[in-house]
Amino acid sequence: KQKQPQVQATAQAPSSPPLPRQNAKVTPPSPPRVIVDKHSTLQFVRVGLLGEGGFARVYEVKDIDGERVACKVVTKSSLKTKKAKTKLYAEIKIHKSLDHPNIVQFQECFEDDENVYMTLELCHNGSLMDLLRRRRRFTEPEARYFMIQLLGACHYMHTHQVIHRDLKLGNIFLDSNMNVKVGDFGLAALIENPGERKKTICGTPNYIAPEVLFDTANGHSFEVDTWSIGVILYTLVVGRPPFQTKDVKAIYKRIRDNEYEFPADRPISIEAQDLIQQILTPDPSQRPTLHEILDHRFFTHGIIPAYIPHSVHDQVPDFR
Ligand code: ADP
Repeated sequence: KQKQPQVQATAQAPSSPPLPRQNAKVTPPSPPRVIVDKHSTLQFVRVGLLGEGGFARVYEVKDIDGERVACKVVTKSSLKTKKAKTKLYAEIKIHKSLDHPNIVQFQECFEDDENVYMTLELCHNGSLMDLLRRRRRFTEPEARYFMIQLLGACHYMHTHQVIHRDLKLGNIFLDSNMNVKVGDFGLAALIENPGERKKTICGTPNYIAPEVLFDTANGHSFEVDTWSIGVILYTLVVGRPPFQTKDVKAIYKRIRDNEYEFPADRPISIEAQDLIQQILTPDPSQRPTLHEILDHRFFTHGIIPAYIPHSVHDQVPDFR
């Protein structure tokens, strides 16, 4: 299955939201096996490739004490335009400012002649997207466990004036203890003045809130993350995103029309369905707050596991 690429565009006519870039990617040369910063104060040995994103490659590296961390590498050749540089600096500035147990910890940032490097806390268990592919869908206790940690991270970001704008299963990582770690601040925005609205159309098609696509005059704010959280909850318990269809234009149409269904053949609880419906409210001002989400019966009247065993990679756990 193809990974859905991010979209980003400055506000345009609301009738034509942007389509994802289909850029032919040229693989840049690998970074050196031993990565050293300009002043030779930091040194990392490359161990393996963890993944590739829109404009970065992420390696597992070992620091001088033998501790393993993730290293996000952006080639300077991809930073020729002012826009690309501004975007990377914004990502670094925002990610660096955050410190929360459910957010991938930013460590260092340095460069050599070829690349810019960011070292990050290593998430040994991949992303929730990888895990969902293996499991097809999660039980509701598992969904509650992942959601509570995600809601905690999101509440922290919002109280620090940060909107993530690309919350999705592929950006939610799991550490060695199956703790949730939100990552990839590549589309995050800082709200510097109270009441400020953002106008850039961005996100990943399946997870984009309707106001981002269709209320470009008014702009959007923190509630876009709440919408994505609703899409995430649906995807965890159903196994596929609510507005998923063949082509992106049709996804946008379904988002505009709030057109999604709960599959009849899967037992999704009334509580889960009700919470998802509340979150996926087209009017952002009518969506529940993060506190209201946590106070919903889905969380208050269901089992919340204290931890998730590693066996969930291949087996459906039984929480009772
Ligand atoms: P981009 O901003 O280019 O989309 P991401 O930050 O999403 O890049 O990272 C790309 C991939 O690298 C991810 O999908 C994941 O597989 C891997 N990855 C990123 N950060 C980490 C991390 N901290 N620990 C482990 N793997 C990671």
